[in-house]
Amino acid sequence: MTPSLLSIAFASVFGAVIGSFLNVCIYRLPIDKSIVWPASACPSCSRELAWYENVPIISWLFLRGRCRTCGERISIRYPVIELLTAVMCAGAFWYYGPTLLFVSRFVFGCALIVLFAIDLEHHLLPNVITLPGIVVGFAFSLVTGPGYLSSLIGILVGGGLLFLIAEAYYRVRHEEGLGMGDVKMLAMVGAFLGWPATLMTLMMGSVAGSVVGVALIALKRGDMKYALPFGTFLAMGAALAATVGPDLLDWYLRFW
Ligand SMILES: [Zn+2]
Repeated sequence: MTPSLLSIAFASVFGAVIGSFLNVCIYRLPIDKSIVWPASACPSCSRELAWYENVPIISWLFLRGRCRTCGERISIRYPVIELLTAVMCAGAFWYYGPTLLFVSRFVFGCALIVLFAIDLEHHLLPNVITLPGIVVGFAFSLVTGPGYLSSLIGILVGGGLLFLIAEAYYRVRHEEGLGMGDVKMLAMVGAFLGWPATLMTLMMGSVAGSVVGVALIALKRGDMKYALPFGTFLAMGAALAATVGPDLLDWYLRFW
């Protein structure tokens, strides 16, 4: 049964509201501030926001991306994250319906969005997201897809593979190429998606990273190593593996 249009509309509004909370996490986690207290304020003049300045997407558009008091620009990241979460939630609800798998994939999607944005800006993948993510993903797999065995292998293979790659890189180059944050993040992907999608995530993340890397070299844009946080590419790879991954695998296996 396909969910009704009304329920999908409700899911997108719910997603936008959660997206607003993800913005708080993205802003406060890297600077070690509490995500529940105090209320949202303008980062520039610290004035607390009124409720009508806190409406996802709409407030930003209405305020034309500026603080009402100090006139400082409000990053376009805010409405973009809210819109992304809204679309992700509506899409997942449309695809999975009111199931536990929908809840699992929505929670996973939220974690990916936060990790993507924080890694992009700070080159950091906070433990407070990745470590509980591994536990929560495995807990979901006990009651829904991909099943606990695939989840467990996914955690070991995802974390293990990246750990070995990171170690090998360090031995050869004597510098850190991959951080332990990437290792824990791919273990989290394994916990939520199971091992086949985890391998696909690593593959697609690496391909995307290489393509962007080569493009940056061609454009001679700054220092490559620091320009490319791998976690952002893992997040994109995981989003692809979770959505078009199964179809892609079917298509590929037909050639065998
Ligand atoms: Zn302000």
